[in-house]
Amino acid sequence: MATSASVRPSLLQFQAGSEKASLPCLPKQRVAVRRSFATRASSNNGGAGVSIPKQWYNLVADLPVKPPPQLHPQTHQPLNPGDLSPLFPDELIRQEMTEERFIDIPDEVIDVYKLWRPTPLLRARRLEKLLGTPAKIYYKYEGTSPAGSHKPNTAVPQAWYNAAAGVKNVVTETGAGQWGSALSFASSLFGLNCEVWQVRASYDQKPYRRMMMETWGAKVHASPSEVTESGKKILEDDPASPGSLGIAISEAVEVAATNADTKYCLGSVLNHVLLHQTVIGEECLEQLAAVGDTPDVVIGCTGGGSNFGGLVFPFMREKLAGRMSPAFKAVEPAACPTLTKGVYTYDFGDTAGLTPLMKMHTLGHGFVPDPIHAGGLRYHGMAPLISHVYELGFMEAIAIHQTECFDAALKFARTEGIIPAPEPTHAIAAAIREAMECKRTGEKKVILMAMCGHGHFDLAAYERYLRGDMVDLSHSAVKLQEALAAIPKI
Ligand SMILES: *Cc1c(COP(=O)(O)O)cnc(C)c1O
Repeated sequence: MATSASVRPSLLQFQAGSEKASLPCLPKQRVAVRRSFATRASSNNGGAGVSIPKQWYNLVADLPVKPPPQLHPQTHQPLNPGDLSPLFPDELIRQEMTEERFIDIPDEVIDVYKLWRPTPLLRARRLEKLLGTPAKIYYKYEGTSPAGSHKPNTAVPQAWYNAAAGVKNVVTETGAGQWGSALSFASSLFGLNCEVWQVRASYDQKPYRRMMMETWGAKVHASPSEVTESGKKILEDDPASPGSLGIAISEAVEVAATNADTKYCLGSVLNHVLLHQTVIGEECLEQLAAVGDTPDVVIGCTGGGSNFGGLVFPFMREKLAGRMSPAFKAVEPAACPTLTKGVYTYDFGDTAGLTPLMKMHTLGHGFVPDPIHAGGLRYHGMAPLISHVYELGFMEAIAIHQTECFDAALKFARTEGIIPAPEPTHAIAAAIREAMECKRTGEKKVILMAMCGHGHFDLAAYERYLRGDMVDLSHSAVKLQEALAAIPKI
């Protein structure tokens, strides 16, 4: 695949049907009004035979105020479906924009989900005992997927819809390596070529993630790279750039926009990604019902918002319908505090400004967070849908420093056995705070948390913490002011 472009690309220059052959439409998905499930008995669900959902849930359908539209990066007009055609197949564009409540999951996708779904819902009884809390702590564990996180929940449908539309190549970025692994795995199942731009810092620190991607047949570049105009420009200014998710997104988007046989996949942030992740929450509703509990608080870490949204949105539907009343808490790193310190405004999803403008909480598309160990949480923006419900007051957010998170992770690993990825250690730290508050007040809250991946390829971070070498990084106020000042004024 050719990977260089002579001009700085933008969506404006790559309108549907001009640069690229238009792709055949998929038949419209049949949408039922009630959710239904594919049956598969499972022994790991902590209750009765829980099944894989047959539909994804779209929270937009139930919101009293609809989220603001995405805007074209040059004209600032609301995006037309065709504007996204250079990047995504038609069915994913439809899912990105639809207000339908439930979307059928294709049988081919359910067949792949069966490799690891339903995922377990577990009660952390030993952790509860260690803490001496009267609270119940449940965790929904997504680390049993082949790539070790929740990311395959969307990688598989994205690869399938691309393959079904006749696409040959998919490109993407990866921060911590989890998304790149997930898409490499999914691409291998449907015969797609996959090319990944891995943030330089992570490429150097996590060779095993790169090896996984290559084992599944993907080609991996360190980002910034010399193969794109966006990458070259960054390297000219800073040859030692450690990269960032925003830069890597620019590189992958550029390649997709300038190659007719190539589409782009994103592992978080977008509506269709959060939609696919709702399999987590739908299963979890069934699993908790089977043991007769409803949550008082649901907690998840937020990088771009997909594992949080995936668990929370079905519970938010139940809350909006008056059937339960949990609080929802997003946890972000103190070094990249998008919801708690960012501004809610239109900004680009990438560093070079190639993506549509999305109204979201952002630290500025030029913000490069310090290299904390939770690479998956180092993103300047937030899912527009999460940002919107945060503005509506439907959820809360807190920021926690990484040493508190790793302290929580050790407590978790030494009681529950699972070594968490650095990202969900944020959720664990917040759950422990919640459980300790219950110990003080005597409240018997039901705490539910998203345990979105294992940390088997992140052991260098654990080693650092165990040696006492891990420090808490704060964002620099000056860097943040600069990045905020560079946000486009809409
Ligand atoms: C990618 C990733 C994240 C961050 O992305 P979200 O979209 O916020 O979920 C968090 N945890 C893990 C394990 C990841 O792989």
